[in-house]
Amino acid sequence: MFNSVDLTQLARYPFTTEAKEWVKNEKVNTADILSDAVYERARMRGIARVHQALKRGIVDEVPLLGEADCIMELFSYPIARMIVAAVESEYLIRRYALAEAKKAYTALKNEPPEFISILAGEFGITTDHRGIHFTDYLKYAPTWDTKWKLVNRNLQHGYVVLQHHEIARLIQEAIREKIQRELANLFAPPEVKRIFRDDIVAMRSSVASKDRRPKIEEVNEEYFPPCIKSLAAAARAGTNIPHVGRFTLVTFLHAIGMETDDILKLFSASPDFNMEKTRYQIEHITGKASGTTYAVPRCDTILTWGLCYPDQLCKTVRHPLFYYRRRSRR
Ligand code: SF4
Repeated sequence: MFNSVDLTQLARYPFTTEAKEWVKNEKVNTADILSDAVYERARMRGIARVHQALKRGIVDEVPLLGEADCIMELFSYPIARMIVAAVESEYLIRRYALAEAKKAYTALKNEPPEFISILAGEFGITTDHRGIHFTDYLKYAPTWDTKWKLVNRNLQHGYVVLQHHEIARLIQEAIREKIQRELANLFAPPEVKRIFRDDIVAMRSSVASKDRRPKIEEVNEEYFPPCIKSLAAAARAGTNIPHVGRFTLVTFLHAIGMETDDILKLFSASPDFNMEKTRYQIEHITGKASGTTYAVPRCDTILTWGLCYPDQLCKTVRHPLFYYRRRSRR
């Protein structure tokens, strides 16, 4: 895929088949990578990758000034993956996959179109000079966002016309999915837990604090305002909810502390329920996958969407969260 083994590019995109092949062909065994002094730099960088993902949500780029830098960078990726697997947290898997994908996006924006096309091919994405084929577009675009909806896009002979950075953004999503899928099936060798014990303990404690959210059983729906009650009931019944309704429901449930998996359960009755797609939409709205946490819409906005069914208490509030808090306090 890359120009006659361009180590810099392999190091920049270590999740590609070609980069993994390169590491495999080096025939270094796992025990050496984990303990030999030669790979100390790679181990440090591997730990840093995971810490950066946890703390900042993106893996930093490092200067790749020569062959040694590239080799260490290449080996640091499988080390980071083993550490993530050893922490045994779905939250970390998702966060790390996104952080690596964001790092790749930063680099991809500066790559020539030919390279972008080749990399897109790795994920089965068909591109041409206009953009991306609409079937691939629908697979990876966050179409719940008005800006990405297909109806708001210019379609030419089956291709969605996109700018360079937009194609890179969709590839970012394909990368995130691939890394996340692979990590979900990865088991770390026992020695990883021993060698990186302190870091793994610190990561587990950091992840635990992020996961401390009430379960759906702990949320009292009695206190929901009528608009949210109605949306939650529609979601449970599998009724089709308009985009703005789903958005309102997700922002509200997240704001009162519900975790993604529990929000997912609500939508699972929907006739067109797609676990991965719905999770992606929820994580975008709640900021896990986008870095932007969307606020719960105010009552006047919900009213214009035709989703407001006010009761007596509604006369004294201007925001669904105020309603919930007031009822909870009583
Ligand atoms: S007034 Fe506000 S809280 Fe009450 S139903 Fe309407 S949007 Fe919901």
